[in-house]
Amino acid sequence: MRCPKCGGLMNFETFVNVDVESIPWHYEGCRCIDCGEIIDPIILRNRARKTKSQEKLVEVGSHHGENE
Ligand SMILES: [Zn+2]
Repeated sequence: MRCPKCGGLMNFETFVNVDVESIPWHYEGCRCIDCGEIIDPIILRNRARKTKSQEKLVEVGSHHGENE
C-alpha cells in the first residue's frame, strides 16, 4: 500500500486508545513511514460523523438561545 499524500511506503499498525475518560478501543490501520499519514476505515467514519454532529451543534445552540 502506498501513501496517498506522498506516495511513500505504508506500514500496518495497531492503534490503541489510552484515554481513560472514553471507551477503550483499538484497531488496525496503516501509517506512512515517510510523512506519518494514517489511513484506516474508522478515521474515515469519524470524519463523516464529525461533519454531521457539527451541523447538529449549531441547531442545538440556536435553540438554547431562544429558551433563555
Ligand atoms: Zn506519506
